[in-house]
Amino acid sequence: MKQTEKNTATAAMTREERERIGRCLPRIIDWYRVSRRLLPWRENPSPYGVWISEIMLQQTRIEAVMGYYARFLQELPTVEALAEVEENRLLKLWEGLGYYSRARNLKKAAQVLVEQHQGRLPESAAALEKLPGIGAYTAGAIASIAYGRPEPAVDGNVLRVMTRLLASAEDILLPATRKRIAALLREQYPSGEEAALLTEGIMELGETLCIPNGEARCGLCPLRRECLACLRDEVDRYPVKSPPRERRIQQRTVLLLRCGGRWAIRRRESRGLLAGLWEFSNVEGWPSEEELRESLKEQGARILSCRACTPAKHVFTHVEWQMQGWLLDCAEAWGDFVWASPEEIAGAYSLPTAFRVYRAVVEDADDCL
Ligand code: SF4
Repeated sequence: MKQTEKNTATAAMTREERERIGRCLPRIIDWYRVSRRLLPWRENPSPYGVWISEIMLQQTRIEAVMGYYARFLQELPTVEALAEVEENRLLKLWEGLGYYSRARNLKKAAQVLVEQHQGRLPESAAALEKLPGIGAYTAGAIASIAYGRPEPAVDGNVLRVMTRLLASAEDILLPATRKRIAALLREQYPSGEEAALLTEGIMELGETLCIPNGEARCGLCPLRRECLACLRDEVDRYPVKSPPRERRIQQRTVLLLRCGGRWAIRRRESRGLLAGLWEFSNVEGWPSEEELRESLKEQGARILSCRACTPAKHVFTHVEWQMQGWLLDCAEAWGDFVWASPEEIAGAYSLPTAFRVYRAVVEDADDCL
């Protein structure tokens, strides 16, 4: 095909896409008005509330966020309170949600807002994107939901709905695909209340009807008469995703060091995986009991007893920890640890979910004796 013919074909396809999208956006808004689920952050949303909820919802299920959102807003109801919160307290409020850099970025952004924006979130997506932790998606969500700006917020749900609607085989993991879909939506995005309804409506559609893994509920969908994937009976072909990077398996040994009812914990380094969070002592590999005792002795520990306890697994985005646990009673406190009671660990130190199994062991230590 000659270049001019190619350009004409692309332009024609884009025109068709534009018209299809134009017919669908009002349908999504109408459907959302009557079908929306009541969620705490949707009731009279403030820009601050929209921001916190959108950051919490990244890579986290709605059900998991519910309790966290209420507690967070109760403890830190304003941008100023967030800017001033002590880091340990902040991480404690976030404990269990994972991806802790999100919490740290919230605080950093709040400090910028206090210093440069009188504690108020800016209205434009471009200004919002300059804040730490706010990317194109979150900026679009805040701008449209809180301020009624004609800005789309394109996440995985929106990409799934849109590529199915258009039967587009573009790889949704490529930034170029996200940009093109955002541009197609932006051209026809409404403003005011309808901007908020549309942003939440497309996401809702992706979360409740246009769901992945062969479970799309097209029969209930307001787009079924326009959706090319549905009309061609090809829903399972979309969205197209490049294969994920392979996850690295890492063997780790978790040492539950106990002395007089107190347990050794330490803070992780300020960079890298689980940066700055607290953890039980742990080492790479699965040493034998003998090797473990020898190594601890060299570090100055006097071990009274050593028992294996439950193995556990934790999956991060790019690495999987396969953990063996040991409960070790020490004759005295040693090393650069904080020796804390189970109550202190629960109340004041944020341990990541990766150690959930071992935290339960500590809280109910008899289980593994
Ligand atoms: S008709 Fe089916 S595939 Fe198309 S947008 Fe609706 S739920 Fe998704």
